[in-house]
Amino acid sequence: MSKLYFIPGSQDLYGDECLRQVAEDCKVMVDFLNEKLGDTITIELLPTVETSEICVKDMRIAMNDDDCVGVITWMHTFSPAKMWIKGLQILQKPLLHLHTQANQKLPYDTIDMDFMNLNQAAHGDREYGYIVARLGIAHEVVAGFYQSEKALAKIRRFAQVAKAIAVSKNTRIATFGNNMRDVAVTDGNRLECEIKYGWEVKYWGIGEIAALADAATEEEIAAKMEEYESKYTVATDNIDAIKEQARYEIAFEKFIAANKVNAFTDTFQDLNGLKQLPGIAAQNLMAKGIGFGPEGDYKISALSAILMAMAEGREGATGFIEDYTYDLTEGEELELASHMLEVPASFALNKPEIQVHPLGIGGKADPARLVFDGVTGDGIQVTLVDMGDHFRIICADIELVKQPLPMPKLPVARIMYRHKPNFEIGTAAWCYAGGAHHSVVSTALTREDIALFAKLTGTELIVIGDDTTEAELFRMSNYNA
Ligand code: MN
Repeated sequence: MSKLYFIPGSQDLYGDECLRQVAEDCKVMVDFLNEKLGDTITIELLPTVETSEICVKDMRIAMNDDDCVGVITWMHTFSPAKMWIKGLQILQKPLLHLHTQANQKLPYDTIDMDFMNLNQAAHGDREYGYIVARLGIAHEVVAGFYQSEKALAKIRRFAQVAKAIAVSKNTRIATFGNNMRDVAVTDGNRLECEIKYGWEVKYWGIGEIAALADAATEEEIAAKMEEYESKYTVATDNIDAIKEQARYEIAFEKFIAANKVNAFTDTFQDLNGLKQLPGIAAQNLMAKGIGFGPEGDYKISALSAILMAMAEGREGATGFIEDYTYDLTEGEELELASHMLEVPASFALNKPEIQVHPLGIGGKADPARLVFDGVTGDGIQVTLVDMGDHFRIICADIELVKQPLPMPKLPVARIMYRHKPNFEIGTAAWCYAGGAHHSVVSTALTREDIALFAKLTGTELIVIGDDTTEAELFRMSNYNA
């Protein structure tokens, strides 16, 4: 279970009685947080920081514990912040500064100097806030009584985003083949991805998968076919085409386990040794939380794995998608998003059908794929692009909608959505921002989750939604002025 360490601050000026009370109050607080957030995270109390040495020790514990995804700090009393400098310099994990109090109300009748010295977060948290700002550490501040629903929701969000950042730091992407030859936005600085986000972008030949696919046993294929038949409706007579995909998924699963990979890419331009482009194989793996990017798109592959991890335990679907085509009926504009084959099964509104159709691109055998209509509801569309000297995340609010009419001849899965605040501003803003045609769509995550991820990873963020105005669009379009 992932954990956060809770490190309270004080000092030895107020005597042992006060420090005992600080530790006792913190225990009550941590017990409460564990009771409320235990389904998401475990919180563990560390010794109260009274000196620089204790702070360094606490931060070393947090850094050396692989289960620890972040740290919560809170100043119960005043805590002179020079004693936090060396410890904070050690911390390389997400930091939440909880600006709260043990007591909710002021005891007007009984308050005296002892009470005020013991409970002075208003004082101590400002001193501490200064040093975190002075050190330039990206962090989250949650202000409010710790038992309030609002504060709890924000701490939960921090825990989920911190877990996703831990996944990011351990993300290893297998790129089979390279970037699709002339595509720009899917390319970028792989080295910088590893420095900034921890992504190991590693190359393998697709022949590795072809060899593992060839070696799949009849028993393994039968088991995989049983999995497909239990989840999906077989709507083709071409069972051999499905078995071919079963081989691919078996191969990818073995490769993923052997190489400790949580995301991969392929490209239809390099399928040497494979008869089909992986369709169901990729779709089914994505639904299991494996990141995927087509055409060598390692950035979206990693981002999809990270955002699927962030959404864990929430209602809704999260996965890779590509912007494809529009219905431009004025005032009712809709987008149809899909891919050649690889739409994650998690987006399915109903039980997907396994169908086999020719693929116009790539010159390979007819691939088996899952075909379905998409889920509906409020969602976000997120992408990450390389701007040369920095990365940029673009997050747009969207409304996923039921497709207005059947599309009986479209042989791929699809989702449909409405842009916000409207088509003109929403899609123009995406274009001005340099947003990719590959993105992650989620009905589980919100703009606030992505904003926190961007903040804690120090990534530029552009948000698009109902609050995006013509004036904002003009500012975005005029960035060279
Ligand atoms: Mn694509």
